[in-house]
Amino acid sequence: MTTPSLLNAIRPEATAARQSGIVELFNYGRGREGLIPLWVGEGDLPTPAFIAEAARRAFEAGETFYTAQRGLPAFREAIAAYMTRCYDGPGRHFTPDQFFVTTGGMHALQIAIRMLAGPGDEVITPTPAWPNFEAALTISGARTICVPLELAGKGAQLRWRLDPDRVERAITPRTRALVINSPANPTGWTASLSELEAILAVARKHGLWIIADEIYGRMFFEGGRAPSFHDIMEPDDRIFFVQTMSKNWAMTGWRVGWLEAPPELGPVIENLIQYSTSGVATPTQRAAAIALEQGEDFLASQMERLRASRDVLCAALSASGRARFATPQGSFYVFCAFDGVTDSRAAAMRIVDEANVGLAPGSAFGPGGEGFMRICFARDPGSMGEAADRLAKWLVSS
Ligand code: PLP
Repeated sequence: MTTPSLLNAIRPEATAARQSGIVELFNYGRGREGLIPLWVGEGDLPTPAFIAEAARRAFEAGETFYTAQRGLPAFREAIAAYMTRCYDGPGRHFTPDQFFVTTGGMHALQIAIRMLAGPGDEVITPTPAWPNFEAALTISGARTICVPLELAGKGAQLRWRLDPDRVERAITPRTRALVINSPANPTGWTASLSELEAILAVARKHGLWIIADEIYGRMFFEGGRAPSFHDIMEPDDRIFFVQTMSKNWAMTGWRVGWLEAPPELGPVIENLIQYSTSGVATPTQRAAAIALEQGEDFLASQMERLRASRDVLCAALSASGRARFATPQGSFYVFCAFDGVTDSRAAAMRIVDEANVGLAPGSAFGPGGEGFMRICFARDPGSMGEAADRLAKWLVSS
C-alpha cells in the first residue's frame, strides 16, 4: 500500500505557490567558478560599517529583549522624518503612527494582503512583475489577475507603459485591490504622475485599495526620486505602502522594512505583526534608524555606481544588435528580450553554461515575461562590464 503524500495532508494554499523561476536558476548555477551572478535582486556591496556599528552598540547595551510590535518609537520617528524629507509636499505630513516596522518589504506585503484578500478575492497587478506578489496572494487564497504592461516605442525611446483602461477592464465584483510596483521589478517601468493619477482614479471609482510597492522610489535615474502616490493622494485614499531598508542601504539580509497605512488600522496591523513575527530585533531597528538618518551619502554613491553599471550594460546590449529593451528609468534591472530566445528558462541555463553569467528568466515574472531576461546591474561597473562583454559575445555567437 502506498502512503498518501504528506502534501495532500496539508492546506492546498500552502502548496499552491510555485517555486520561483529565479530560485530555480540560482540553484542550477550556484557555485560555478567565476560565474557573475546577476539573477538575484541585490547588490554586491556589504552594509556600510556605520550601520552595522549601530547594531553592535545595541547588542552590547543589552537590547536583546522582546520589542514593540509596531516597531521601536525611535525608529518610527526616524521613518517619519525620512519620509517628510523625501516625500513631503503641500498638505502632506508624516507622523510615526502611520508606520509599522516589518520583517522586510516582503512581510509588509504579506500583512497588506492579509488585510485585503482571501479566498474568492481577486487582486490586479501589472506584469511582468516580481513573482512574490502572485505567490503571496496565492498563499492567502486570492487570485492574481495580470494586466500586461506594453513595451512601446522604438530603439532608445522604447518604454514600458500601463494602459489604465486595461486595468479597469480587468475589474470584476471580486476585485479588492491593485498592486502597483513603481519603479518596477523587473521592467524598470516607472509610472509618471499622470499614470499614477489615472490608476488612482480607477481605484477610487471602483472602491479598490492600492498596495503601492515603492521600494525602488529612490533608485530613479531621472532626477530626485520617482513619482509617488504620495504626490497625488488625498487623506481618505485607501493606499498601503510597502517599504524596505534592503536595497537603498545594502541591507537585504537584515530583514527590515515597513508598512505605511492609515493610523486607524494600527491595532489590526499590530496584531498581525504580533501573530506572525512578533516584531523585528531591536539592534536591527537601531541600525535601520541610523541608515535613514545618516545614509544619504551612501545612497548617492550607490546611485552613481548604478548609473555607471546601467550605462555599461545598456551600451553592450545595444551594440550587440540582438537585444531589445527599455532603458530602465528606475530600479536596478534591465529587462531584455534576446533575438531568437523563446524559452527564457532554457536560455538562462545555456547562458550559465556557455557565458558563465547568471540571469533570471523572464518566464519567472508572469504574463508578458517570456522571451525576456532580467539582468540585475547592482554591481561595480568593472565586473558589470565583464558580464556585459560575456553576454554580448554569447548573443552574437548563439
Ligand atoms: N518589492 C519588490 C518589488 C522587490 O523587488 C523586493 C525584493 O526584491 C521586495 C519588495 C522585498 O524586499 P525585502 O523583503 O528584501 O525587503
